[in-house]
Amino acid sequence: MKLKELPQEYEKAIPVLKKLENAGFEAYFVGGSVRDTLLKQNIHDVDIATSAFPEEIKQLFPKTIDIGIEHGTVLALVDDEQYEITTFRTESTYQDYRRPDSVEFVRSLEEDLKRRDFTINAFALKEDGQIIDLFDGLSDLENQVLRAVGNPHERFHEDALRMMRGLRFVSQLGFELEAETALAIQENHHLLEKISVERINVEFVKMLLGQERSAGLRAFVETECYVYCPGLKEYGEALLRFADLPKKTLRTESQAWTLLIDQLGLEEKEIRSFLKQWKCSNQMIKEVQLLVYGLKQRKQHFLEALDLYRLGRESALNVEELIGYFAETPELQQVTANYDKLPIKSLSELSIDGNLLLETSQKKPGKWVSEALQLAERGVITGAVANDKDELLVYLKEQNIGI
Ligand code: ATP
Ligand code: MG
Repeated sequence: MKLKELPQEYEKAIPVLKKLENAGFEAYFVGGSVRDTLLKQNIHDVDIATSAFPEEIKQLFPKTIDIGIEHGTVLALVDDEQYEITTFRTESTYQDYRRPDSVEFVRSLEEDLKRRDFTINAFALKEDGQIIDLFDGLSDLENQVLRAVGNPHERFHEDALRMMRGLRFVSQLGFELEAETALAIQENHHLLEKISVERINVEFVKMLLGQERSAGLRAFVETECYVYCPGLKEYGEALLRFADLPKKTLRTESQAWTLLIDQLGLEEKEIRSFLKQWKCSNQMIKEVQLLVYGLKQRKQHFLEALDLYRLGRESALNVEELIGYFAETPELQQVTANYDKLPIKSLSELSIDGNLLLETSQKKPGKWVSEALQLAERGVITGAVANDKDELLVYLKEQNIGI
């Protein structure tokens, strides 16, 4: 098969292939972007595979960065773009189900394509549009099937992460797992135990953000992969309930964790340790804790001034979108308008501060200062008092703060 037209990202990268070819090497576009081109989807990263060895690649391109030279990957900087150029390789004798004991550079494209996970990820594309399809990936693409390259059992033994990758492609592409591939995942799900949580996390989040999240989640439960993921062992039914939520693509990673936690019914104090087990960053944990709080509020009533203030604009909008999964229509414009109406957006906008309170009161510093500021902050946000220095001092006096 030959493509008539290439996406512009590939057009731009053709000189890179040409340079390798003119030096006597083979070079192709490979990986997910070829699959996405065939699916007429936008492509993100342009990956290039070549018969040139890393040192040979480096001699051809003046600006390179060794990003994974032991795996044969060199990043070439050409015309403000970056291209990952990887030497054809085979991976041999996986003994711990997660990484090859050794990577061997080879000059054969076929050997390189054989080590790839699924037939639809194992195409190579020449700059003239010619598709190299050694494993019938084109018919799998046509039939919307995810089939492991070669013997699925062996392939998941070599690298168990491929099982999670399979599930995330179910969700991202809406494809079905081919029967033997599905069976091999079911039989080998326990091997996920050997895989680092960080790698599982990446695939899991991509699965939750996919357009066919429900299908991905169902396959995740049916193959019992969930049992070997952090903190999910007892939650098969909850995950199926999650799969039954309205079909609506999640927009952000924090929304995905929030909806998951909501469906699992985790308590507030359990959120942190759950996300820690998943190796989420502290920043992500903070964001999700806020969204879980917001969603809980929003399930009871529209977000009130204090909720909006605490959440901030972005999180408030994230929460409002999430209410769409619970038989309500998100009122995003209303949320933005209400947020913009808040008299202050942060404590620094308050017309009084700690120093002023100390001067006015002549009292010793202490916990009372922050308590007074919080009271003033709350008063301003709820509209009980204007954000005006004199009015705030009167207000605090009335509240028996003792200034
Ligand atoms: P995405 O669109 O999310 O980037 P992708 O298929 O390009 O998906 P990458 O992780 O970028 O995924 O990997 C690029 C290519 O490398 C894949 O298409 C596949 O051919 C190969 N690959 C990646 N991970 C594995 C793996 N664990 N086992 C075998 N092949 C893999
Ligand atoms: Mg990719």
